[in-house]
Amino acid sequence: MLQFTLPAESSPTTVEERARILAAPGFGKHYTDHMAVGRWSQDRGWHDLHVDEPHDFSLHPATAALHYGQEIFEGLKAYRHPDQSIWLFRPEANAARFAHSARRLGLPELDERLFLDAVTRLVHTDQAWVPAHGGETSLYIRPCMFASEPFLGVRPASEATFFTIASPAGPYFADGPVGISLWVSRVHARATPGGTGDAKCGGNYAAGLAAQTEARRHGCDQVLFLDGAEHEWLEESGTMNVFLITQDGELITPELGTILEGVTRDSVLALAREHGLTPVERRIGMTEVRERCTAGTITEMFATGTAAAITPINRLLDGDEITIGGGDPGRRTIALREHLLGIQHGTRPDTRGWLTRVA
Ligand SMILES: *Cc1c(COP(=O)(O)O)cnc(C)c1O
Repeated sequence: MLQFTLPAESSPTTVEERARILAAPGFGKHYTDHMAVGRWSQDRGWHDLHVDEPHDFSLHPATAALHYGQEIFEGLKAYRHPDQSIWLFRPEANAARFAHSARRLGLPELDERLFLDAVTRLVHTDQAWVPAHGGETSLYIRPCMFASEPFLGVRPASEATFFTIASPAGPYFADGPVGISLWVSRVHARATPGGTGDAKCGGNYAAGLAAQTEARRHGCDQVLFLDGAEHEWLEESGTMNVFLITQDGELITPELGTILEGVTRDSVLALAREHGLTPVERRIGMTEVRERCTAGTITEMFATGTAAAITPINRLLDGDEITIGGGDPGRRTIALREHLLGIQHGTRPDTRGWLTRVA
């Protein structure tokens, strides 16, 4: 049976150096002692699957991914619980989404079982890198696949490389969740029907960077993308899905289609009723958001994604400024956030079987 082989020996980071990094890991700056790698070719299928010391790739200048963006990725986390055990949150959802993204981008599908094998073996090998329980820290895991065939013709590549790296992550909000501001992008869109909006591919991010720069220039933290045709309907914030809470207890989020189907989004929808909220997936326009924020019938807004779990949104900039609720993180947003983080970090019961033990 195909699986990722483990390294015979390795020269890990010293205990002291690792402790120094884990004391203040930041995000995406430090990497663990190993990576998982696998190769695919049309002739051989998946082969050479192994966990190895981190190493650079050497790429021919004609490598297809560099020219045509045939690349996909995933993001998930491992959490240390109070009893020191280590758990993944819904990794099978990431495996399924990776396969979906591969189909959309013309890349070979990696069997979901092999995806989980790569992730669990890497985390198990580098378990000393999962930060201590407490303080909302975790090990961020980044699987990725790219077209590695050197060929300048335009067609799905006949060679692909899969790899997974891991990076310790500090608390997203060191002093508790502060709300962010979103700049409503009326010019740039991130996706259109039939496009790649529902695939987790690097190209979507590249296409969103100009809007992100524009948001910063206007003093906002992130972008809020609208639909590409009418520039009216809410989509998402480029790296996070968005939610609105109404005075009468609806939890509204844009319906699936052109947005990325977030695992956090799905989890928040599942938790809604326990918080007295009715989950609603539907089209929602900026006209309605503006009117109802002004009237005070939309009281809270937040964004969801693996990196920050739930991020409160305090204001939107759309020509003029739209303040949400009192302009501070909402009460129900904070309650949902604490619930989700509690499940992930092992301090609230996991009644849905969302957690998978790794060590
Ligand atoms: C990954 C991602 C999200 C969040 O998905 P999670 O599974 O919750 O981390 C949202 N939007 C985009 C565009 C993404 O790439």
